[in-house]
Amino acid sequence: MPISFDLNPGSVSGQKEMHEIAVTHMRPWSRKYDVHEHEMPWEFVNPMWARATGKGVKLDGSPGDGMVTVCVQTEELCWGDAGLYLRSPSPLLGGSAVAAAGTPEQREKFLSPFRTGKPKWGAMAITESQAGSDAANIQTTAVLDEKTNEWVLNGTKIFCTAGDAALTHEGGFVVIWATLDKSAGRGGIKSFVVTAGTPGIKVVGCEKKLGIRASDTATLVLENCRVPYNHLLGKAEVKKADDAKGDKGFKGAMATFDASRPIVAAMAVGVGRAALDFVKEELTRQGVKIRYDSPPTQQTAIERDVIDMEAELQAARLLTWRAAKMIDRGQRNNLEASMAKAKAGLAVTKITQKAVELLGPPGYSQKLLVEKWMRDAKINDIYEGTQQINQLIVARRILDYSSSVLR
Ligand SMILES: Cc1cc2nc3c(=O)[nH]c(=O)nc-3n(C[C@H](O)[C@H](O)[C@H](O)COP(=O)(O)OP(=O)(O)OC[C@H]3O[C@@H](n4cnc5c(N)ncnc54)[C@H](O)[C@@H]3O)c2cc1C
Repeated sequence: MPISFDLNPGSVSGQKEMHEIAVTHMRPWSRKYDVHEHEMPWEFVNPMWARATGKGVKLDGSPGDGMVTVCVQTEELCWGDAGLYLRSPSPLLGGSAVAAAGTPEQREKFLSPFRTGKPKWGAMAITESQAGSDAANIQTTAVLDEKTNEWVLNGTKIFCTAGDAALTHEGGFVVIWATLDKSAGRGGIKSFVVTAGTPGIKVVGCEKKLGIRASDTATLVLENCRVPYNHLLGKAEVKKADDAKGDKGFKGAMATFDASRPIVAAMAVGVGRAALDFVKEELTRQGVKIRYDSPPTQQTAIERDVIDMEAELQAARLLTWRAAKMIDRGQRNNLEASMAKAKAGLAVTKITQKAVELLGPPGYSQKLLVEKWMRDAKINDIYEGTQQINQLIVARRILDYSSSVLR
């Protein structure tokens, strides 16, 4: 079915509203929270929370034009500041996991606290020292205590975005991926919700990073952390390790990425657009015009670079909107989500580096935000599946190879 790239009125008004937030509540604080890594940016968090609680958070993950609008809004906020965006008081990736793998009751239970009260955060913890791209190699364990009907979780999770905020604010939660049976490989992996205040989980540190420094990136240790049986996301078909044989749990958990990759791609597009807009404004200020319709043989080097940046950005955005639109239509978008993520990760890296280059020495100086955008860009090519992993998924889907054949 063809996809129209005209935004509906709801997406357009959301875009305008987020642009206003980006200008008013993000850009003025960009440098402060780049420097003061790990501090909570309340100047951004408070107005965002007031807005979210006033309007309600979309909880049901139902089809509509929801994901396209989310991507359009994400682009605007990341045009404002990608690190601050990751501090948005919302379920974030944890919300994507609950929406993708949870039952309607679980969505209500874990996401409804985000409608009221004080600011709170969600997070998702997959990565361990030996398991990132190779998510099937997760060593964190979940064992059912049949007497109490609780899951007992043990392990260490690293690089968890918003992990600290999620566990230190009431109503927050982290979705933990753990194995019921290491010998079952991916078939043994399930995801579990651990809410803030649960004994047995602690934050043991936050990473100092190259970019998105406003965002907290936590290391979490789980020691005999007990969660109720119904915190296992999805239908309660698993009771013990033997029941975990088969692929359903892992596939359910991986479905999170089909929803989250278009959002990360939109983040990349936002950062890339920030850099490109700035370059174009600067060129206009210097009286340099980009003649978009001039033949290639007559273009200046600057014109060719800017047109190339525009083309990269547009291609990434259109792939992102296509992947998002497929979710809104209830279509499987595994291939398209990876295409968008891979393209946008490369595009933003290229665009921001070129922006620093075109601006000359001021582009490299902290007087401008362009050097920061270049640092913020690269993460989009790493988390939610690296460039190489997303290319691998695209190849598998196009060539119809399984993950055991093409790896
Ligand atoms: C700032 C930040 C925030 C993060 N937030 C989160 C989060 O919220 N939750 C979470 O769970 N994780 C998070 N991560 C972790 C991130 O998702 C992983 O780092 C990423 O998936 C890569 O996995 P890895 O670290 O195991 O690297 P590796 O898998 O060891 O990859 C190293 C390199 O090898 C390449 N490679 C690996 N396998 C293949 C292959 N089969 N073919 C070709 N190349 C391959 C990779 O592309 C990469 O270039 C975050 C990371 C960072 C840096």
